Amino acid sequence: MGSNGTLTPMSDKINIRISPKDFEYDAYTLVKAFYPESEIETNDDLYGNEPLINIVLSDAKVEVSASGFESEPREENGSTEGLDRPEVKNVLKQCLYRVLSSLTGLILPWGTLTGIRPIRIPFGLMEEGFSRPDIEERLRNTYYISDKKIGLAMEVAGSESELLSGADYEDGYSLYVGIPYCPSICLYCTFPSNTADRADFDGYLSGLEREMKFLAGMYSKTPSTIYIGGGTPTVLPIQYLERLLSMIESNFDTADVREYTLEAGRPDTIDREKLRIIKRHGIGRISINPQSMNQKTLDLIGRQHTVDDIALAYDLAREEGFVNINMDTIIGLPGEGIDEVRHTMDELIRLDPESITVHSLAVKRAARLNLFKEQYREMGIVNNEEIMDMVYEKLESTGMKPYYLYRQKNMAGNMENVGYSKPGYEGLYNVLIMEEKQTIISCGAGSSTKRVWGDGRIERMINPKDVKTYLEGIEDIKKKKKKLLEA
Ligand code: SF4
Repeated sequence: MGSNGTLTPMSDKINIRISPKDFEYDAYTLVKAFYPESEIETNDDLYGNEPLINIVLSDAKVEVSASGFESEPREENGSTEGLDRPEVKNVLKQCLYRVLSSLTGLILPWGTLTGIRPIRIPFGLMEEGFSRPDIEERLRNTYYISDKKIGLAMEVAGSESELLSGADYEDGYSLYVGIPYCPSICLYCTFPSNTADRADFDGYLSGLEREMKFLAGMYSKTPSTIYIGGGTPTVLPIQYLERLLSMIESNFDTADVREYTLEAGRPDTIDREKLRIIKRHGIGRISINPQSMNQKTLDLIGRQHTVDDIALAYDLAREEGFVNINMDTIIGLPGEGIDEVRHTMDELIRLDPESITVHSLAVKRAARLNLFKEQYREMGIVNNEEIMDMVYEKLESTGMKPYYLYRQKNMAGNMENVGYSKPGYEGLYNVLIMEEKQTIISCGAGSSTKRVWGDGRIERMINPKDVKTYLEGIEDIKKKKKKLLEA
């Protein structure tokens, strides 16, 4: 029996055989959601070993069986007669879910859904004109989503739909600019970031400008939204920050964009002069990201600033006239439980920003944290429904509503990331990128360009994360991007 009461496999690996292999990845991700710590091997990896989980798809049915766990063998099957491919996939995942739930005793809040965009299903059904009760029934019976998450999903889908209906985004595009530098690298970082101390900002901005000019030549002058992220763009010394914002201004129409955001990110990179430059260049929305309001945690995760610095940077931004401030937090940081998260939320509510984004820590993706995972496991990495519910209730009581949501692989507690905001302060860029409603053209190391066609087809291109490789490859990047964006 596993430490959480689940039935463990008798061997150290979980083998899955699925024949034919069509839905191999779907099966893998669902098993992983139940057994996040186990190594999982599928079909070609098995080298003749007997599978613990066997899935057989035939024309009329799907059969799932599991043996080799500390239990009696389990079996489930379902009819697939006359069903199309997505429906067959649903039946397969339902059978597998029932087997795994019976083995582990676990109920997953998001049921059979393992993808990063769970809101696409209710959102899509809303667009097709289904009624709320019909959508809720589908989420419950087809995907086994818990009632609480159905409520959350419906609220977010409704909010996204309302926001997009007034956004006139269909024929437009958005621009992302990446600045891959930070004062220090956080323990949990999953972004393409480098320490700023020995950075060649001049060289980077020159390369960025070449790519930006090329993109500006391909698109109309006015994007729907602009997002400057990274990294931490405010790590740029003032002359470079000024240069970056002027460069964007001379290539794109920043006056008429619907939303212009800059990640000020780390409070230790913000001062009055930088805020004035940002304001002068027309940026209306900034993010100041505490992640936690507990000093012990900030020290542990490699932030080189204090809790007071966060409040000071925030007050400074207010003094300089910023009326749309977002603050990011993370649940599941080492050593933090419900009391620490409650404290962070109380402190943020006291500051009263327009939006708060609540992330769940994605341990496997966080390279440095993953490296020391055993050490931090002893401290406890906790995220559960009780914490998420507490956060939801606290933020709702201030008038904020959840307006966008996504999941990542390997998130603590199998939870989600949720953006909350006061009415009218929802981040449009966040919704556009999450629902993949619009082409996002990006420039900078590690940035991802996404071409969205009218028929819903999507193609991506990611720039090299390494700054040197990016700068050396700009001509090649331009060629490839031209092909993608012109097609
Ligand atoms: S501030 Fe963000 S991008 Fe920079 S190191 Fe920390 S997590 Fe990574």
